Amino acid sequence: MALCWALASGCGGDTADLVVRNAHIVALDGRGTTAQAMAVKDGRVLALGKEQEILNAHRGARVVDVKGATVYPGLIDAHSHLLGYALGLGRLNVVGTTSYEEVVGAVSKASPGASGWIRGRGWDQNDWADRNFPDRAPLDSLHPDTPVVLQRIDGHAVLANRAALEASSMWEVGEVPCGEVLRRPDGTPTGVLIDGAADSLLARIPKPGRAEKQQALAKAERNLLACGLTTVTDAGLDWADILLLDSLHQTGDLKLRVVAMANPTRANLDSMVAHGGLRTEKLVAESFKFYMDGALGSRGAALLQPYDDRPGHRGLLLQDPDVYRAQLNEVLEAGFQAATHAIGDSAARLVLTMYGELLDGPNDLRWRMEHAQVIHPDDLPKFGMHAVIPSVQPTHATSDMYWAGERLGRARIRRAYAYQDLHGQLGMLPLGTDFPVEDIDPRKTHLAAVARQDANRTPKEGFHLDQALTPEQSLLGMTLWAALASRMEAEVGSLEPGKRADFVVMDRDWLLLDDPHEVLSSNVLQTYMDGKLLHSSQTSVAP
Ligand SMILES: [Zn+2]
Repeated sequence: MALCWALASGCGGDTADLVVRNAHIVALDGRGTTAQAMAVKDGRVLALGKEQEILNAHRGARVVDVKGATVYPGLIDAHSHLLGYALGLGRLNVVGTTSYEEVVGAVSKASPGASGWIRGRGWDQNDWADRNFPDRAPLDSLHPDTPVVLQRIDGHAVLANRAALEASSMWEVGEVPCGEVLRRPDGTPTGVLIDGAADSLLARIPKPGRAEKQQALAKAERNLLACGLTTVTDAGLDWADILLLDSLHQTGDLKLRVVAMANPTRANLDSMVAHGGLRTEKLVAESFKFYMDGALGSRGAALLQPYDDRPGHRGLLLQDPDVYRAQLNEVLEAGFQAATHAIGDSAARLVLTMYGELLDGPNDLRWRMEHAQVIHPDDLPKFGMHAVIPSVQPTHATSDMYWAGERLGRARIRRAYAYQDLHGQLGMLPLGTDFPVEDIDPRKTHLAAVARQDANRTPKEGFHLDQALTPEQSLLGMTLWAALASRMEAEVGSLEPGKRADFVVMDRDWLLLDDPHEVLSSNVLQTYMDGKLLHSSQTSVAP
């Protein structure tokens, strides 16, 4: 009976349902494996090998000829903000506008989101010929009934039309603590609200509901798949949104795999502990995201010695050490991962000290430090000692390089963004982008990682080029090492028998480029998840 069944179903239980042939497959399994063909069954990799071997062993399977293209495992972003990116897509981007008229022109073409509001961000009157704050008048005539609110580039001010001021009850408001409502000579608001006043208005915009989030995530998913990403991170979600992602996965409305880090609120800690986290085919929620300091740009990163360009100022630690220790303890007891944002060397020291006390030597919990931008040399060995994974974003280095030296001074900048040193600690280094802070595009990450230059080839000699990653390290950082950092390496991160058949077909092999800048003109031709084609483009795919 068993024999009949095997015959009836083809050539036995081990026959693939898909064969990818005529390929240059780079397995990224950490052993340098390459192959010409790959067999896939039930959404998982069955075998890799030589063209004829695989074809002969899997007659009857559907065959995809990729015509000599390169195949990598689906790319992973180890630190990003999926929901924030998604919701931002529905908003107007007026970064780089050179006049208020240009902003108004953009608003005239915008339509309201599901909340009924038109939202945008990025204006900066310092970039305009008239550097005075704008007035709401043209926005009122364009949209007398639809609320419009546009955040200034730095997030410290908004421009709102009358409908938005009325809908948020800011029209009638008098004095605002820690903020200001700019007024016309007649006493009515100009529409520009500063700091506390801006925050009050933003807090009164209806929160996006399920439908808006679902719609935004669908759009985000298309962009991410087009870049070859099949697994992304959300570094900071509440339990309700983790459940939302899970339900969208269940209904098939979201296909991307997601690593969800929970915000360490009391409610999230209780829910996560009660449920033992969440691990499905598509979602892993077994980690908490903490913040130890701010960012270098706004001098919020916590440094051991004062900022070079602000005497006496060392930034700010955001965690009360006792509260942090107690929360880490809960995370440890539940067997979850801790992932802590630390940018300055003082913040990093505190994180490594706290982690070290609790982890106390080698372990496989995969606790992480996010960003790890400035590390004091004395602290570097602690990553290896307590198996703490540094999670870095190469495009932050090439974005920050224009001013980071002014903040840190010559000695400290030399040991900042030190990816090769960090890699040396555990022999791995997961890479991400922190999107939407940086672009979602893994090609830019690769260029920044290996050339330490931005797209303009700046700086000529590379930004501390001795810390550049090799092309293979960079690709491993976006695949296998990112999977390891998120406890997903049994399922994704490399093309090996048994793992999910998440893979991308590329027109170039990034390991074989003569000039690393050629990566920017390389294209993702196809993206597969579980052996299914989810994105295809024979031309350009960059969103
Ligand atoms: Zn982030």
